[in-house]
Amino acid sequence: RFATAARRSAETAAQLEGSNKYGIGVSKAQGIVKGLTGAIGNTPLIRLNHISDATGCEVLGKAEFMNPGGSIKDRAALYVVKDAEEKGLLKPGGTVIEGTAGNTGIGLAHVCRSKGYNLVIYMPNTQSQGKIDLLRLLGAEVYPVPAVPFDNPENYNHQAKRHAERLDNAVWTNQFDNIANRKAHIETTGPEIWYQTKGKVDAFTCATGTGGTLAGVTRYLKTASDGKVKCFLADPPGSVLHSYISSGGKLVERAGSSITEGIGQGRVTDNLQPDVDLLDGSLHISDERSIEMVYRCLDEEGLYLGASSCLNVAAAEEVAKKVGKGNTVVTVLCDGAYRYADRLFSKKWLSEKKLLDAVPEHLKKYIVL
Ligand code: PMP
Repeated sequence: RFATAARRSAETAAQLEGSNKYGIGVSKAQGIVKGLTGAIGNTPLIRLNHISDATGCEVLGKAEFMNPGGSIKDRAALYVVKDAEEKGLLKPGGTVIEGTAGNTGIGLAHVCRSKGYNLVIYMPNTQSQGKIDLLRLLGAEVYPVPAVPFDNPENYNHQAKRHAERLDNAVWTNQFDNIANRKAHIETTGPEIWYQTKGKVDAFTCATGTGGTLAGVTRYLKTASDGKVKCFLADPPGSVLHSYISSGGKLVERAGSSITEGIGQGRVTDNLQPDVDLLDGSLHISDERSIEMVYRCLDEEGLYLGASSCLNVAAAEEVAKKVGKGNTVVTVLCDGAYRYADRLFSKKWLSEKKLLDAVPEHLKKYIVL
């Protein structure tokens, strides 16, 4: 009797296409995956109900905060390690070395632990003790080094590269210019979006750090749709890419900064370069808009998201208005707010950044720190 009931419930689950009779998603429940790396990707595509209803579009967010390391960067971490293995640069017991202050380090730490590699992380010493502690407890050897610009040989990226050159069976994964990063999104994120929307996607937008996500997803969706899906960069203050794309390729000096961590770029990386001409345009999103969206996503959608995710949602809302009613717009929910709560929900921090007024009056009740 149990077997019959189980079979019937499996059939019902299959018929319900992604959610059970309570509306609870089953898209993550696909049977057994092999180890931590098998749990990376295949994230749900969440309909942002309020924004969708208000714009008359289907505005969908790819729930990357549901990856085991808590961010989109788990995908790139897995791919740069797999790439090094396939090229014979990394053998059992080897060492992965990367320059990162954020999610890539956490993704790499999980992937390296699960595969038995050592991990060495270089980061600017301006980063919080919390980040250093987390990477160390995940098994990484962490070197905080002076925060100097990229053209200085002591910059954390160059130090990571030199460390790998000194060591046998070690690889500098070089997330910015290693195109295994964009490949992760050509082979996983892009196809997942296409499959989940059954090919009914009209536009895509997201911000860039390394450019892997934007380039990889854009490449896949443009190819799958014969160029029909419109793809847009979403760019924060202090990044040069918005002006680069809007001016048709003029690179200006980097000026200003943003509170959105993990995104914004001063150059066209090797990950972005092959696909930059495929983009249909670019949107500049202010910190005020990103912060407003942090609070709106929490209040309206129940989503507790980091600032880069909310910049993406703000951009998706703009794209929805641009492409018009009846269209489907997809963006990326890169990570959750957990690692940023002491800033995003702190009255003192918001005041220091002159962003207190960006929080709508009726949502100020969420400023509890
Ligand atoms: N959001 C967050 C929070 C990130 O850490 C990153 C990666 N630095 C991104 C967005 C951007 O992703 P990508 O590197 O693929 O451009």
